Amino acid sequence: MKYLKFKNGDQMPAIGLGTWKSDKGKVGEAVKTALNSGYRHIDCAATYGNEAEIGEAFSEIFSEGKIKREEVWITSKLWNDSHKEEDVIPALKKTLKDLQLDYLDLYLIHWPVAFKKGTGFPENDEDYYSLEEVPIIETWKAMIKAKKQGLVKHIGVSNFSIMKLEDLMEKTSEHPEMNQVELHPYLQQNELLEYCSSKNINVTAYSPLGSGDRADAMKAENEPSLLENKTIRKIAKKHGASAGQVLIKWSEIRGTAVIPKSTNEGRIKENLQSTGVNLDEDDLKEIAALDRHFRYVTGEFFVTKGNSYENIYDDADYKA
Ligand code: NDP
Repeated sequence: MKYLKFKNGDQMPAIGLGTWKSDKGKVGEAVKTALNSGYRHIDCAATYGNEAEIGEAFSEIFSEGKIKREEVWITSKLWNDSHKEEDVIPALKKTLKDLQLDYLDLYLIHWPVAFKKGTGFPENDEDYYSLEEVPIIETWKAMIKAKKQGLVKHIGVSNFSIMKLEDLMEKTSEHPEMNQVELHPYLQQNELLEYCSSKNINVTAYSPLGSGDRADAMKAENEPSLLENKTIRKIAKKHGASAGQVLIKWSEIRGTAVIPKSTNEGRIKENLQSTGVNLDEDDLKEIAALDRHFRYVTGEFFVTKGNSYENIYDDADYKA
């Protein structure tokens, strides 16, 4: 297993367990299975609605004593309705309480989009704050405060484009330590990856398997399947691996962290075992050719007529 290094010497295991859409009643078992099978990195978020059950699982595992809190890298994310300076630390404290933890290893601003307090998903323009009303730097200053208070060890962002990273870094000397973004063979984001590497920002790849369990309303018609892709399947067959393992290994080779979601015991274990798969130069060339700038998580749910987020990715190819 590879590790991502941080400036203070901390190391984050490259493969973690994703928990978005992991249903209540299943997510706790999934986290326990993951930790008991060797995972030491769990990716959470307040908006996933399942942190309390994950907290129960952490409490059970840590009280057994076989795995210590400090051996596990735990990430969570600040939801978009808590971007005002005074809302950040209370939101973080709620997450810590739910997860039954004293600190997080990493806390991320989930999206560069701000909602009015209490908005889960916006229904109209009035549910938003504009970036002028609640600038990212305001949120970021509260994230820095949380780090200084020892509530989190590292702070970062998610779904940030180069433009948004540049804009934030111009305004602060405390730079984001992580950018968690969608990354897989159909959306390879080489430019963003190179940029982050040049600024010592680590990158985590989300939806590495194509996020097949999203609600139908979030899916494009006839969206391409990564797990069914012929090239990926051919490479998997060649190495006696599964398609999922090839996709996870590809992320690991590119130097990012990768957080496949599963609540299925077999697949949780299978995904971690991708560390044992070896992709060769030919495989990597073939996978490089699959890039088609396709997003599974389009951010379309944040676009309402008249608000200023039509283009959250600063991406000319993105169409709302
Ligand atoms: P993934 O790409 O991880 O895909 C999850 C789907 O793949 C589920 O249906 C799962 O089913 C299935 N699956 C898991 N392993 C395998 C396997 N080996 N073979 C075949 N199918 C498999 O989707 P996510 O969108 O959930 O992304 C992963 C994580 O990234 C999230 O859970 C979340 O933690 C994070 N994320 C962060 C975002 C952000 O804005 N920062 C946005 C999106 C995701 P099953 O459970 O039945 O195994």
